[in-house]
Amino acid sequence: MHPIKQSRIMANFDGTFDGVTTLSHELGHAFHNWCQRDESILNADSPMPLAETASTFNETMITEIALSEADPQEQLFILEKSLSGDTQVVVDILSRFLFESEVFRRRTQGPLSVGELKEIMANAQKQAYGEALNWDYLHPYMWVNKPHYYYGNLHFYNFPYAFGQLFSKALYAMYKEQGKDFIPVYENLLRNTGKHDIGELGQLIGVDLTQKSFWEKSIELIEQQVEEFERLAKA
Ligand SMILES: [Zn+2]
Repeated sequence: MHPIKQSRIMANFDGTFDGVTTLSHELGHAFHNWCQRDESILNADSPMPLAETASTFNETMITEIALSEADPQEQLFILEKSLSGDTQVVVDILSRFLFESEVFRRRTQGPLSVGELKEIMANAQKQAYGEALNWDYLHPYMWVNKPHYYYGNLHFYNFPYAFGQLFSKALYAMYKEQGKDFIPVYENLLRNTGKHDIGELGQLIGVDLTQKSFWEKSIELIEQQVEEFERLAKA
């Protein structure tokens, strides 16, 4: 509620771990809005790739805190949930990106048949999932049930999710490296998400977002969780 400089959240809190992560997610949005309270209303609206920055940051943080206090059985559950979400974003959305890129490339030469669309989708899934997916169980018809493929103005619809997830996790990795010093930098970043392009926002936090190393920070966080999950599952 920008005009009165206050945030409100609505949540059906039921006491489950899901409820806790949802609450932390929504509080992230509330905090993001609060950081923009002194901006003009036109500068307080973030584009989709940045709108989930603080909410994802909070979810990552609450997951880490919960893991540090949970017993091994609970840790396995928390990690399974967290990794399912991350792999959906990092791996499956990559397959959709590859699919759409290839469709646009080939469509310049003429209309595509159902057979060709199936082949492009299956190839995209093979490329994104690699050996992590049994190739007998690919989903060549995935393009049928995602409506955004059929809207002219919604191409690469899922890209902001992947961008946002990786951006936010890398910010959390920076927070872990820098500790409390990072908090004012983070607040300033959130304040400015409605009025700068992403390159300029990178400068605000002292990183060059065209460099792979920034994005690898978030993949490393996920990798650590995969290793921990495997260790717990074998125990
Ligand atoms: Zn959200």
